[in-house]
Amino acid sequence: MELLGKSKEELRDSCVALGEPAFRGAQIYHALYAERKFDVAQITNLPAALRVRLSKEARITLPAVQQRFVSADGSVRYLFALPAGEDRTTARPASVEAVFMPSEGRQTICISTQAGCAVDCHFCLTAQLGLIRNLTAGEILAQVLLPLEEHKTQLAPPFEAQGKQTNIVLMGQGEPLLNFEPVMAAVGILLDPGGMGISPKHVTLSTSGIVPGIERLAQEKVRPKLAISLNASNDEQRDALMPINKKYPLSVLMEACKNYPLRTWEHLTFEYVMLGGLNDAAEDARRVVRLLAPLKSVKVNLIPWNPGELPYRESSPERIEEFRRILVERGVPAFVRYSRGRDVMAACGQLALLQVQSSPLTTVRSSL
Ligand code: SF4
Repeated sequence: MELLGKSKEELRDSCVALGEPAFRGAQIYHALYAERKFDVAQITNLPAALRVRLSKEARITLPAVQQRFVSADGSVRYLFALPAGEDRTTARPASVEAVFMPSEGRQTICISTQAGCAVDCHFCLTAQLGLIRNLTAGEILAQVLLPLEEHKTQLAPPFEAQGKQTNIVLMGQGEPLLNFEPVMAAVGILLDPGGMGISPKHVTLSTSGIVPGIERLAQEKVRPKLAISLNASNDEQRDALMPINKKYPLSVLMEACKNYPLRTWEHLTFEYVMLGGLNDAAEDARRVVRLLAPLKSVKVNLIPWNPGELPYRESSPERIEEFRRILVERGVPAFVRYSRGRDVMAACGQLALLQVQSSPLTTVRSSL
């Protein structure tokens, strides 16, 4: 029986099935996610006999760290090896990455939700893999738990109580809304004050624009913030960059965004990777303003492209600033987001490059 990834209710049910009181499940839940104890022998508030039994009948499977790439800016890119899982969607072994990015007073962890991806965005290296497999809730959570444990001397929990902030962004490999149940199970534990206790203000799910997934997410009581990977100012451009746009064109996507129920503190984030000569003209900026005009509360993150193997080029800093200025002057908050960890290929869309070059058998990619 695998314990990692199970909710409090599932752990209670598992304990009852073993003939133990249900509250033991809550103790295991707290130990796993709040205290990050990854060995049942360490959960010392359980009776010794139960610890012995669990060590035989249950397991806590953490992915192995295959490689760590440490950047000059302090970012660490983890390459995790995931063994074959137990059901059809997880039956293949895979590798995925997460990136830990420390900065003053806060830390951000970018995690993957699938190995590979079926969505086929043309600027993304992950797309070239196709979908290898979905990740389980436990595999998604492990990408947060392991870096936090490894860096706990830098920022000790509880982070929020110290006025320090942990941000989680679901922007690594995969389209989170195409692995909905495991992603939401993991998010539920991330956001649970009795679990990992991270504020919903600090967890962001980024989608390529899977409209049924956005509509489904809108119904969830416990949910992260939502970011949309936009990257184009009209359908023609977006069709060419992100073929998913043919299925969910901008009019349909924007309607779903318009109907999305924002909380009082919340805004929708639109990510826009700046591709030189392709989507970075002043006219593009004006079209983005018109596109977003019907939405209530938005912000735009402009992401300078990092040149690599894919056939796109950088926008000049002047172009990016001009684009930002047009948005801001017309009332759309816009920010330029430079990628962290460039020297370890931890920049969006380029995480995989180093690994692809070093080992053709273990390809990993990343998304915007
Ligand atoms: S950008 Fe995201 S959704 Fe698009 S192919 Fe890459 S991983 Fe998939």
